[in-house]
Amino acid sequence: MTTALMPTYKRLPVAFQRGDGAWLEDTEGHWYLDALSGIAVCGLGHAHPAVAAAVADQAGTLVHTSNLYEVPHQTRLGERLCQLSGLDQVFFANSGAEANEAAIKLARLHGHHRGIEAPEIIVADNAFHGRTLGALTATGNRSAQTGFGPLPAGFVRAPYNDSAAIEAVASERTVAVFVEPVQGEGGIVVPDADYLPALRRLCDQRGWLLMLDEVQSGVGRTGAWFAHQHAGIRPDVVTLAKALANGVPIGACLAGGPASGVLGPGSHGTTFGGNPLSSRAALAVIETIERDGLLDRAAAVGERILRGLRDGLTGVRGVHDIRGQGLMIGVELEGPCPSLVPQALDAGVLINVTAGRVVRLLPPLTFTDEQADRLVDTLTPLIQQTAEALADPSAALA
Ligand SMILES: *Cc1c(COP(=O)(O)O)cnc(C)c1O
Repeated sequence: MTTALMPTYKRLPVAFQRGDGAWLEDTEGHWYLDALSGIAVCGLGHAHPAVAAAVADQAGTLVHTSNLYEVPHQTRLGERLCQLSGLDQVFFANSGAEANEAAIKLARLHGHHRGIEAPEIIVADNAFHGRTLGALTATGNRSAQTGFGPLPAGFVRAPYNDSAAIEAVASERTVAVFVEPVQGEGGIVVPDADYLPALRRLCDQRGWLLMLDEVQSGVGRTGAWFAHQHAGIRPDVVTLAKALANGVPIGACLAGGPASGVLGPGSHGTTFGGNPLSSRAALAVIETIERDGLLDRAAAVGERILRGLRDGLTGVRGVHDIRGQGLMIGVELEGPCPSLVPQALDAGVLINVTAGRVVRLLPPLTFTDEQADRLVDTLTPLIQQTAEALADPSAALA
């Protein structure tokens, strides 16, 4: 069916032709409840009228000029992101990986400015930062890296959620610590409440940049604009992408404190990044989240889903953990559970399984209580069946 495409994705046998909020219609006319949002991208749901109107208006006015000129919507978007984050400056790119490349280059240049010739960035086990060479090297997944060597040097890895382990791998070449505030692809790993504050203190003491990859967790998903805000800290660098323009490609690398002013003229660039179309879409996303109170909505509906899953699945054999922050929700089973994805699809619900054994839910911030209950009611028996079969394979065969 897709023979002209490089088979980099194992695709499910379904294609969608229309979206409406949390619902997607396939090419046969069946509707599905979308609890994945295109992997945390369509935070406002599909075909959101405010974004659609902004994109249509901008497409009919001006799509692209160049970063050789002033781009007023990009300037305005940068100001809004600085207000929301407390940081000082933004570089706009087109994806999460590209936002992270900007962060990596910024950290290296910062190191060079301080006389460190071969700067090192500390990254975490099971991290995901994207597929370009730098981001891939920062990513803690051997199988994603296999075959793509030589990978760039300058990355050192430590266990996640363990600030002492960071000190153990640090050296005089260390310039930055770069982690996700909640690991997404790694299995919805929510660190202890004192992890980010401990990293902040450590980076302050040692003169390192604290850089957070909020490509998945940012723009409201966890019930705050940025997940690190739950911890009450301010990082030096934050990267964003996925939900920032609700599906129009954009990425952003935000910098503050010692990280601001590092990237100067000629040091980095992009043709498309922050063009009028994507910037305008992102401005509409931010306005809508504010106007509709969607941070509180994400927190409340996330709580409701988590409570529902815990009510139905706590104590079920084969269920290892049920966790989340806002609308990043994971149910970890005791073994691989990839078949839950097609099973949920057959039951009319779009979900994902990541890290092999973690059912991952990333519904739109606009999810209603009724949609939350429908999701929980559909998934609970499916997860229960799979988990029990994992815990007792002989019973499943009988
Ligand atoms: C998705 C993701 C990326 C990569 O984003 P792309 O837009 O696919 O390049 C990077 N970091 C995190 C945390 C992500 O979830």
